[in-house]
Amino acid sequence: MPRTRILATVGPATMSEERLKALVEAGANALRVNFSHGDEDQHRTILQRARKIGEELGRPVTTVADLQGPKYRIGALEPELRTLLPGETVELKGGAGPSEAPVIPVPVDGFLRILHQGQQVLVGDGAIELRVESVDATSARARVVHGGHISSHQGIYFPGAPFPKLSLGPKDLHDLRVAVEEGVDWVALSFVASAADLRAARAQVAALQPDRAPFLLAKIERAEALRNQVGILESADGIMVARGDLGIEVPLAHLALVQKELVTAARRAAKPCIVATQMLLSMVSSPRPTRAEATDVANAVLDGADCLMLSEETAVGQFPEESVRYLASIAEATEPALWGAGSGTFLGNEGDLVGSELQGEEGAVAEAAVRLAGRIGAKGIVVPTHSGRTARLVARLRPKAPLLVLSSQPSTSASLGLLWGVRARNVPSRLPLDSLRDAARTACIEALQLSRGDRVVLTAGYPLEGRPTNLLTVVEI
Ligand code: ATP
Ligand code: MG
Ligand code: MG
Repeated sequence: MPRTRILATVGPATMSEERLKALVEAGANALRVNFSHGDEDQHRTILQRARKIGEELGRPVTTVADLQGPKYRIGALEPELRTLLPGETVELKGGAGPSEAPVIPVPVDGFLRILHQGQQVLVGDGAIELRVESVDATSARARVVHGGHISSHQGIYFPGAPFPKLSLGPKDLHDLRVAVEEGVDWVALSFVASAADLRAARAQVAALQPDRAPFLLAKIERAEALRNQVGILESADGIMVARGDLGIEVPLAHLALVQKELVTAARRAAKPCIVATQMLLSMVSSPRPTRAEATDVANAVLDGADCLMLSEETAVGQFPEESVRYLASIAEATEPALWGAGSGTFLGNEGDLVGSELQGEEGAVAEAAVRLAGRIGAKGIVVPTHSGRTARLVARLRPKAPLLVLSSQPSTSASLGLLWGVRARNVPSRLPLDSLRDAARTACIEALQLSRGDRVVLTAGYPLEGRPTNLLTVVEI
């Protein structure tokens, strides 16, 4: 089993009980439901099946509800599918359609006021490019620069145009309620622009479910979000490098460096980071990935990603389980490079983390735990935690010794499901130190298959509830 987490999108190809279970058995730690597709019944069914499978297999399956968010889309086309040829002129007009050629309906109030001559317009995944030639009170005419197929309700982008900020609309609020009712662990927010979007969503989930609100994942897919990444990382519980739409908002040539920057920023903040989109896309219809895909997956692991995501590969692909297995095997083969030549500590990249606000006493204790484990060849690092904070501080250093979290809060285990290398077990809260050592021994034997005489490093904020990390000790099994 790799330490890198695998998040698989569930769709028609994998939603049956049998296929879903096979996906988890193949190595998916977490399952994503994309609320942009399918209907409420489907979403509820998938989330219920995920919980049931977790219970059957005796290990938690983390669930992620991905909300559509404020994305601009075209309206309905008549017929549904249309081919645009380079040089052709189309007419962008307000309304939901259905509209026949040459009209492309755009159901966004006041969008014509923001367009000007020369404005670039992208449709679908960005492959289709239009250029605005003239705008009047009722429509805009645009010439097709790069043609291709378009279909109803595809995304439409106006790069650089001063579009009004959108917030969660009625569909998102409804979907959020469905997800919370089904006890989802994480909610992913699409197209966030700044920390304010996170705060607004936090208030909404707290109102729906005050006791066990889901954790919030900010999808970074807008240029504005990149500029506001520090604030977003403070307000979110984790981020996703959503390379699909991000690749439209920033030039593709910059994508690799943007990914590295975001992954490092998330490690500095000790919050999980998911790298998503087209990781093994060719496996939608092929049993093997391309060389470029295999290399992209390995590089994401080396960048320091906590979790890798599959989209079409598992939602609609012909080889969903094989895709998960490939992702797992590439990650597992690559991870040893994180630890350098047998040092047992992380690959000299602690420099990335110096100066981060968590580099204080707690960060230093976590770092000492990882170094100590490497030095004595510990067979594990055990982290009793209440909020998950100590676990996040240790995990961000990517220790070679397996990381076992003893959580006194079931919701904490769920939050850690996207975090690199964490295995979690629940323990009672407020255990005295002796009992905590005993609980650690038992858990190490069960979860890490350790035996008598093995040594592990234990680090915690003691006595747990709300203490900063202050304890570091060696426990012999
Ligand atoms: P996002 O921008 O959020 O990634 P997406 O449209 O790219 O949205 P993915 O979740 O990446 O969607 O999934 C890839 C494709 O798989 C979708 O375009 C859709 O065709 C299909 N798909 C995903 N989830 C479902 C679903 N629940 N029901 C039907 N088809 C789905
Ligand atoms: Mg998207
Ligand atoms: Mg996608």
